[in-house]
Amino acid sequence: MIIIMERNASDIQIQKVIDFLKNNDFEIRFNQGQVHTVIDAIGDKTTVTPGRISAFDGVKEVKVIREPFRLASRDRKPDDTVIEFSNGVKIGGGNKPVSMVGPCSIEDDYEGLLKVASAAKEAGCEFLRGGAFKPRTSPYDFQGYGEKALKFMRKAADETGLLTVSEVMDASDLDMMCDYIDVLQIGARNVQNFKLLHAVGKCNKPVILKRGLASTIREFLLAAEHIMYNGNPNVILCERGIRSFDSAFTRNVMDIASIPVIKKYSHLPVIVDPSHGTGQRYLIEPMAKAGLIVGADGIMIEVHHDPENALSDGKQSLPIPMFKDVMTRINRLNENIHYEKNCLSANIG
Ligand code: PEP
Ligand code: MN
Repeated sequence: MIIIMERNASDIQIQKVIDFLKNNDFEIRFNQGQVHTVIDAIGDKTTVTPGRISAFDGVKEVKVIREPFRLASRDRKPDDTVIEFSNGVKIGGGNKPVSMVGPCSIEDDYEGLLKVASAAKEAGCEFLRGGAFKPRTSPYDFQGYGEKALKFMRKAADETGLLTVSEVMDASDLDMMCDYIDVLQIGARNVQNFKLLHAVGKCNKPVILKRGLASTIREFLLAAEHIMYNGNPNVILCERGIRSFDSAFTRNVMDIASIPVIKKYSHLPVIVDPSHGTGQRYLIEPMAKAGLIVGADGIMIEVHHDPENALSDGKQSLPIPMFKDVMTRINRLNENIHYEKNCLSANIG
């Protein structure tokens, strides 16, 4: 790390910082400029964090050269993480992008869910996704059917040959959920619920971690680091839009650039969720395509057999006929992306 001292830092203050670092086995290079003194310190930052150094009087700024997310970092693991399921489906590493689709909430209507699951399978999707525990802004809104919903989802997924994804809100539900679920989802509102992150870190199921409403990319990757640090390397990051000042036309601002940025700095797979990212049915297709074009490893889309009567997020759900058309075009796009990638690697040699 690089420590920049205040222009009027005293010799005693500078020496105190140097002594502290040396006592903690840091190698020091010292530059006394005309205005600022700069200390270049190389050593183990697990005990001496930048935060501790910045607490010393006379320290103006501490700059970290290596990113603080170590396990999630591409410096540490240059090759993409690929998550493989027992049925052969793979996420990441340039494999065919996956599609995770289904209603926002699993409702008390098995036939309706089965219609969605059958359409999903027919369209080449790999995952049935739906909520059993819903993180709703208002306590008066539908909160999810819990285990009953998971049972429905497992049954519909088994009948059609799909894998399942559902959100966990409480660590005490994990054991029960793991009986029904192939991939656990941590929702945007829980991205910094560290106890929950630690709990899914101890599970042997892959985890989709959604970007928080106001997470920076670094915070997002550090949240993934919490899961990985606790033993679970199978984390899939999901860009689902962030809050901004303009919500007149879209629910969130989908940060498309975050996908190639994350891929540059991390080896973890990244998917996009244009339903929550935009809140608008008509924007699902263009934004899913945009995400795939910039390198997303998959899409998450809300689909409902009767969106006008959905218990949550009907406005950002595709009805089944529209979903089928959208998937035809998305599948075609994926083939073209695959073709372009092959041409590119052939040209590069
Ligand atoms: C969801 O996926 O249904 C959901 C509530 O999403 P988010 O956490 O991104 O708001
Ligand atoms: Mn939803």
